[in-house]
Amino acid sequence: MQFDVFTLFPEIFSSPLDASILKRARESGVLSVRLHNIRDYATDRHRTTDDTPYGGGGGMVMKPEPIFAAVKAAAGGEQGLPIILLSPQGRLLTQEVAGSLLHFPRLCLICGRYEGVDERVREHLVSDEISIGDYVLSGGELAALVLIEVVTRLLPGVLGDPAATFEDSHARGLLEYPHYTRPANWRGWEVPEVLLSGDHAAITRWRREQALRRTWQRRPELLQRARLTEQERLLLEQWQKETDNDTG
Ligand code: SAM
Repeated sequence: MQFDVFTLFPEIFSSPLDASILKRARESGVLSVRLHNIRDYATDRHRTTDDTPYGGGGGMVMKPEPIFAAVKAAAGGEQGLPIILLSPQGRLLTQEVAGSLLHFPRLCLICGRYEGVDERVREHLVSDEISIGDYVLSGGELAALVLIEVVTRLLPGVLGDPAATFEDSHARGLLEYPHYTRPANWRGWEVPEVLLSGDHAAITRWRREQALRRTWQRRPELLQRARLTEQERLLLEQWQKETDNDTG
C-alpha cells in the first residue's frame, strides 16, 4: 500500500517510519510512504506557503496553490484516488474506518499547519477528512503517522501473527481481555489459574468474559454496537443488577 504525504515538515516522519513494524513493512515492500514537501511547490521567491486570513484574526492559513500543485504533481488525475485531509473537523478515525481504507492501494494525506488550510482545498481537492480525536494538534503530521500505523498493521503480512488483530480492542466492538506472561507468581501477585490450566475452551470463555466485563466497566457505549450472544447479554444484565443492588 502506498501513502503519499503532503507536508511542510517531512523530517517529522523519519524516525517513526524507520523503526519497528513500519520499518519492516517498508523493507518488505508491503508499505511505501512518499513524502512531498509542499514548500517545493511554492512559486514565489520566498517559497511562501501561508498567508494571513481574510477577515482578520490571528494566525496564518496555508495557501491553496502549492497544495494543489503538489497533489497534482504526485497524483496527476488518478481516478478514485482518496485525498484525505487530516483535520480535527473530520470524521473520527476508528478501527472500522482504518479497515475501510485497506481497500485502496494508494492514499494521499494532506497535513495542515497553523490555522489550517484554505477552505478551497477542502472544497475542491479533498475527498475525505479524518480526525484522530477531539483535540487539536499543531499539525497533521502526527495524525498522518497514526493513520499510517493503524492501517499498516492491518495489511496482510505485516504482523507476525495476523490473528492477533482479530482479538485487539475495537476489532470486534469490545476492549481486549488482560494479558499475563511469566513469572506465574510475582511478588505474590498470581496469574489467573485458568490461564495455566491448558484448557483452551475454558481460556477462550474466560477471555471473552473479561473482554465483556472490561468494555462494560470502561466503555459501556461500545456495547450498543457489539455483536453479543444471548448468554453475554444475560451476563451484562446480571452485572448491572449486582451493581444496582450494591449502589441502591
Ligand atoms: N484552527 C483549526 C481548527 O480549529 O479546526 C485547527 C488547526 S491545527 C492547529 C493545524 C492542523 O493540525 C490542522 O489543519 C490539521 O491538519 C492538524 N490537526 C490538528 N488536530 C488534529 C486532529 N485531531 N486530527 C487530525 N489532524 C489534526
